[in-house]
Amino acid sequence: MTNNHAIVIGGSMAGLVVARILSDRFLAVTLIERDQFPEEAIPRKGTPQSRHIHVLLLQGQFILEKLFPGLREEMIAAGAQLMDVAADWIWLNPAGWGVRFPSDLFILSFSRDLLTQVAGYLSSSASQSEINAIANANLAVAQSATVTQS
Ligand SMILES: Cc1cc2nc3c(=O)[nH]c(=O)nc-3n(C[C@H](O)[C@H](O)[C@H](O)COP(=O)(O)OP(=O)(O)OC[C@H]3O[C@@H](n4cnc5c(N)ncnc54)[C@H](O)[C@@H]3O)c2cc1C
Repeated sequence: MTNNHAIVIGGSMAGLVVARILSDRFLAVTLIERDQFPEEAIPRKGTPQSRHIHVLLLQGQFILEKLFPGLREEMIAAGAQLMDVAADWIWLNPAGWGVRFPSDLFILSFSRDLLTQVAGYLSSSASQSEINAIANANLAVAQSATVTQS
């Protein structure tokens, strides 16, 4: 490994995923977030879209589970809802209403804040207080507070 230190700006889903991937190639990854991360999965200023209900489709689940092992179970334990995408959803498309039938295709529904919180928790060996230490920091001072990946 020749790379020492990567810096990622923005600690939401894109930032967490990028930081997680870079952690395989860099000795340390520093994630810089403008907001203070709340202790609970509640909305914050930097992600106003998080108030809306979100779903995670199957391929997204597979990819995130590879990057953050245990994410699916942690999400369910924290209140995310499993939905049979063929039975529990009503689809209207140009061909008419989709046929509903029981399947094994389960998607997750949750708040956007919950996904970020669980992925952040699973991706970092740092404590919440260490993560908060880099929130609100600018690039220059944040380099001394590093979130290292396990
Ligand atoms: C109504 C609605 C419903 C949606 N439903 C779904 C859905 O069901 N499923 C789905 O997959 N997607 C859904 N999306 C899309 C999804 O919310 C976004 O694609 C996703 O949040 C983008 O993530 P991101 O990490 O790229 O950006 P963001 O979540 O916008 O995060 C950007 C981060 O960067 C930080 N930041 C910004 N500027 C700075 C700075 N200068 N310095 C440091 N940090 C900074 C912000 O504080 C924030 O944490 C929906 C979006 C909307 C609006």
